[in-house]
Amino acid sequence: MRPFKLKMINEWIFSTNPRKFLTIRIMITFFLLSAFLSACYNNKMNQDKQNTPMSQNTASDPLSIHQRAIAVDMHADTAQRLLDEHVDIQQQLSDGHFDAVRAKAGGLDAQFFSIWVEPQLFGGGGARAMKRADEQIAAVRELAEKHPETWLLATSAEDIRRAVREGKIAALMGLEGGYAIDERLENVQRYYDLGVRYMSPAWSISTSWAGSSGDDVGLTRGLNDFGKSVVREMNRLGMMVDVSHVSDRTFWDIVNTSTAPVVATHSACRAIADVPRNLTDDMIRALAKTGGVVNVIFYPEHLEPGWQTLKKKVDAEIATMVQQASNAEPGGAVHKKLARDRVRTREFARRLPPVKVSRIVDHIDHIVKLVGVDHVGIGSDFDGVQITTSDLATVADLPNLTKELLRRGYTESDVEKILGGNMLRVMEALH
Ligand SMILES: [Zn+2]
Repeated sequence: MRPFKLKMINEWIFSTNPRKFLTIRIMITFFLLSAFLSACYNNKMNQDKQNTPMSQNTASDPLSIHQRAIAVDMHADTAQRLLDEHVDIQQQLSDGHFDAVRAKAGGLDAQFFSIWVEPQLFGGGGARAMKRADEQIAAVRELAEKHPETWLLATSAEDIRRAVREGKIAALMGLEGGYAIDERLENVQRYYDLGVRYMSPAWSISTSWAGSSGDDVGLTRGLNDFGKSVVREMNRLGMMVDVSHVSDRTFWDIVNTSTAPVVATHSACRAIADVPRNLTDDMIRALAKTGGVVNVIFYPEHLEPGWQTLKKKVDAEIATMVQQASNAEPGGAVHKKLARDRVRTREFARRLPPVKVSRIVDHIDHIVKLVGVDHVGIGSDFDGVQITTSDLATVADLPNLTKELLRRGYTESDVEKILGGNMLRVMEALH
């Protein structure tokens, strides 16, 4: 600084010019005000970071809301595809409803793979039924072992939350039909130890200990004493009891026996679509009273009134075509069934009226009106059905469900519960 300038500053400081004091006061006020505003701003930023992690956006569009929610699908039959068709679900497949690519695109966070033993092909019990279950379990476990960057083998709500934090999809398992326990109580723990976290006592064919909604035996059969001991053993272990597919009598016996929340992994409302597989209003109320969740299936047959009758008509029309495809298939019984299903998939799409995602939400609405938003979830049945809804055709379309929920006035908190939050609550209460 040059001497003459210093002199000027000295003169200004030591002068008694009143404007000088005014200027200093303004400077001090400005300085204090800036410091105060800066402190306030920093405090607000810290609070925001605590409430909202930097990685999380707060946009209110349907896709952002969908991505923020933890989506848990309670039922898909993809394990059988892994085993019978050797599909590579790391790739986007041109058929079926599920693979890792489409699951990521659809914002899915957790998938319960159904370990389904088809009694007509593998027996309603015995060594073959157990082998069939064990092979599917091994296929799911192998998925997570071979592709740990995509899948996390999960058995708890905490595992699912960890998968979300790590940007992976949680792979879980449920036994569909109790055939694989081979009427032995100790096998419930065997499957629990292998990672199975739910079991339905019967699929479409009744077991000796539990009636099914799919056959005449189920009309009069509930749980016998052994069946009740199976439910108590599941409660003891922390394995969820699934009422999808069971007969009405079995349903009531389960609800009256279980001391833990009861779930339906893939069912809908009989008040809308009157099929025996669906739950009556009384059943939905009783299930909610246990603290459980009805996970709504995405299959038109259980969603759309009258659709089952139409499907039976189409099945009769295409019977010859289906049989020819079966006969032409050189493989074994499983591959013959796959050949029949391929024809049915094609012909159902051509001959049956499309059903939309809004019908799924009709069932969700119905359950919410009966028992509130804490007792409803989702169980797609992807890869277990020949046809899906037109605008929720595969797991990639899952955001369309959120869009429809929001359109009908559900809040973000409601959407979180329906997509998976309610099932996380049930899983957290297992022990
Ligand atoms: Zn099923």
